[in-house]
Amino acid sequence: MTPKEYQKFCKKTAKKFNTKEKEIFTWGLGIAGEAGDVAGCIKKTFSHGDDQRAGLKENLGDTMWYIAMICDFFGWNLEDVMQENIEKLKKRHPKVFSKKAAKKDKRRDWNE
Ligand SMILES: [Mg+2]
Repeated sequence: MTPKEYQKFCKKTAKKFNTKEKEIFTWGLGIAGEAGDVAGCIKKTFSHGDDQRAGLKENLGDTMWYIAMICDFFGWNLEDVMQENIEKLKKRHPKVFSKKAAKKDKRRDWNE
């Protein structure tokens, strides 16, 4: 399955909203919830000795679904977002990961 096919499929399974505002609030809160579920599964697996890897895998998929829907909301192709990320990483780490390059890179903190 290509990213384009995945995004198209996700859209078919998404609820329709009366307002764009309600739609993006739902996707934004939804991805945060799924990311929390991912964190919880990792914590239970490694801190509590309760193997939650199946749940982790499922919740990673759920997180991807929200990524696809947020991209769709803004009219972005999931594949383009993936490609932009690859280009950013190639620029930052041309050959392999380096701590020095990661520290030197002056990035904007998008969470300001
Ligand atoms: Mg989930």
